[in-house]
Amino acid sequence: MDIIPDPVKQYVDGRRFRMLIDGALVESQSGQRVITVNPNTGEDLAEVPEGGAEDVQRAVSAARAAQPAWDALGVAGRSKAFKRFAQLVAEHREDLAMLDAIDCGNPVQQMRLDVDLALNYVAGWPPLAAAMNGQVIPASPGNLHYTASKPYGVVGRITAYNHPAMFAITRPLPSLITGNTLVMKPAPQASLSALLLAELYNEAFPPGVVNIVTGGAEVGDSLVTDPRVKRLAFTGSVGTGLTIQRRAAESGHVKYVTLELGGKNAMVIMPDADVDEAVEGAIFGMNFNVSQGQSCGSNSRVLVHSTLYDEFTSKLAARVSEYHVGAAYDETNDMGPLVSRQHYERVQSYIDSGLQEGAELLTGGERPDGAPDGGFYLRPTMFGSVRKDMRIASEEIFGPVIAVMRFDGYEEMLDLANGTDLGLTASVWTRDLSLAHRTADRLDAGYVWINDSSRHYFGTPFGGTRNSGIGREESADELLSFLESKVVHTRLSDPGVAFERLIAKR
Ligand code: NAD
Repeated sequence: MDIIPDPVKQYVDGRRFRMLIDGALVESQSGQRVITVNPNTGEDLAEVPEGGAEDVQRAVSAARAAQPAWDALGVAGRSKAFKRFAQLVAEHREDLAMLDAIDCGNPVQQMRLDVDLALNYVAGWPPLAAAMNGQVIPASPGNLHYTASKPYGVVGRITAYNHPAMFAITRPLPSLITGNTLVMKPAPQASLSALLLAELYNEAFPPGVVNIVTGGAEVGDSLVTDPRVKRLAFTGSVGTGLTIQRRAAESGHVKYVTLELGGKNAMVIMPDADVDEAVEGAIFGMNFNVSQGQSCGSNSRVLVHSTLYDEFTSKLAARVSEYHVGAAYDETNDMGPLVSRQHYERVQSYIDSGLQEGAELLTGGERPDGAPDGGFYLRPTMFGSVRKDMRIASEEIFGPVIAVMRFDGYEEMLDLANGTDLGLTASVWTRDLSLAHRTADRLDAGYVWINDSSRHYFGTPFGGTRNSGIGREESADELLSFLESKVVHTRLSDPGVAFERLIAKR
């Protein structure tokens, strides 16, 4: 009997997943392939090339050779490739969504929306890039100073696994529209959709402009340390981000590194909040039904004022327990499995630590009944009575675990909210505008929602403070981060003197 049901098999059977280097779909030079696992069943799913340092070198060489001509096209010329790419992505929407469901475990219906969201970004970058201006700076009287923006050349992009297709579509684009070329390494847990996208990039973009190399830390490290890659953009964990900064410096070459890292994000519920809205906000912001809570920006810590604590926790626990967990490719389920056995065990160890440290398990914390055997399924889990010193209150779990804490005083709330070393997102729930904006100002995070959670809007800079990263994405800030400013200073002679010189020459 087939473990993988037929509707799934058709998305991988007969398909060869290959890397993209220099305009060709290729195997790794070593010829090695690795098997990727279907987290819905724990069974083998498909083979992908296992890239190595030599593949990265070839990809960087190709990107370097392609860059001057790509830059010379200008934004208008480059936009044509974006347009074609958008058509191809739209045509492959179902394939991409299904590959993410079977390779990563995210619900297929949500992955379709991820593709739609990504298409907004494909459409959004060219006009934003076209509208960018240089500056004329009145730095000294009578002279002309202006800035020109230059791409870095070859950009190295390393991504995390939790939105595989969306990251493989959206993350390359700002570097490309600004005239850079790219070598991207998707996450090894779920690279099938990126390898399908390799085919689409190859059809839409000139050879060498986009290169995709699969593999793990070794491939990433080769990209980070390659002297020809001056600009690195990374999405992943804090630990890997720190390693990348260190390894980039150890390469002996100065590099511009931006980092989109983890979060342990606080949702603050003030005494006047609408409890029902806040409950829905907490559910939505956990992204249980998008990525099983494997989400950097999720509100995994909820800080509730004591006066609302009982009502809020009982209503939230009821909603959290409603989730139907099962195979991600079956649309009757609203939550899939975690990405891998290793990650499942890691999340489980946090649940154990919460129990050992005295948190109150309000719902979840176990495998759902009736979920397919072998898959890495966990019911969405909610802890109450969480204290600041518990691991589940301070460390990023990156899974379907929400920790609820209570507070009484305003400064106590701020101390809790800002009391980790991460500062990616936060939200504040209140009907009082002064309280909302003053609190938003004091929450130490890169993105703060008022009476909302988790939503990203193209054009608004996304990124974290403190150990959540450095740099901002999804906005003009990100475009600028792929360009270096050059100042041109023109000394202009006194017009009277210049005029006399002209006369003297006649
Ligand atoms: P990870 O750090 O384990 O891996 C991320 C990527 O880095 C993968 O492609 C991996 O192969 C690569 N990598 C690993 N070691 C490397 C090395 N030494 N050199 C170069 N590359 C290396 O992270 P993950 O488990 O894939 O993703 C989860 C993490 O990503 C969470 O912490 C989450 O919060 C974070 N994340 C952040 C954002 C954001 O926008 N801030 C978005 C998504 C995920």
